[in-house]
Amino acid sequence: MNDDFKTIKEKIILNSPALAEYILKTSGYPNEHEQLKEIRETTIEKYKHMSIMNAAVDETQFLAMLLKLMNAKNTLEIGVFTGYSLLATALALPDDGKVLAVDPNREAYEVGLPSIKKAGIEHKIEFVQGNAMPFLNDLVSKGKEGSFDFAFVDADKENYINYHEPLMKLVKVGGVIAFDNTLWFGSVAFADDDQVFKNDPVMEYIKKHGHEAIKNLNTFLATDPRIESVLLSIGDGLTLCRRKY
Ligand code: SAM
Ligand code: CA
Repeated sequence: MNDDFKTIKEKIILNSPALAEYILKTSGYPNEHEQLKEIRETTIEKYKHMSIMNAAVDETQFLAMLLKLMNAKNTLEIGVFTGYSLLATALALPDDGKVLAVDPNREAYEVGLPSIKKAGIEHKIEFVQGNAMPFLNDLVSKGKEGSFDFAFVDADKENYINYHEPLMKLVKVGGVIAFDNTLWFGSVAFADDDQVFKNDPVMEYIKKHGHEAIKNLNTFLATDPRIESVLLSIGDGLTLCRRKY
């Protein structure tokens, strides 16, 4: 397995590295847009192990297909980083579609921006530098309720549950809110005091940042009567919530 695959493997929950590699080699990489590949590679080069923040290749392709199947036109993206999922979204939208994206980190967005420009879809993107909570509340107070077909949430895990409420207003009935990393490196299957978190700095970090929040979110979403939800074991876990009313 080359270094590239080692980096990618970490964002795939699948417990078979051989199968993960097979999926990417056979379907993921051959179907990856040139500029998406460019962002993925530039991010690995610049951010090293932090590049695992880019959504997984196969997961992003799944989301792009979903957007096309839904005929999505207006979407929201919470958490942009270098713009891998953002570019995939913009490519999947029609020419008059729009993705409104928020992230406090403009510097990371600008790392992917040359590729976004090269892909010729910059006109479909509006990047807002800021924090998601005031941004979402502002959209609600500006009367944007029911304006969006889809929202991709991939930011600070502790706040996902807070983002759900304004998103339930902003995404139209029949629209979809997608929460990323809802298996949180597989940690959600374990209680706080499990052996799996002991003597492993990575797992300890995962436990400290988001483990409890994602577990609470998963329990909450599974019983929220306003949505139909499904937790998929793709990428690092992806929960799709379809707004019922
Ligand atoms: N969706 C991106 C992709 O697939 O390439 C990856 C996003 S990365 C996992 C998480 C991002 O969330 C970071 O860029 C971080 O700056 C952003 N973030 C953290 N806290 C945030 C907040 N309160 N509001 C908006 N974005 C936030
Ligand atoms: Ca993610």
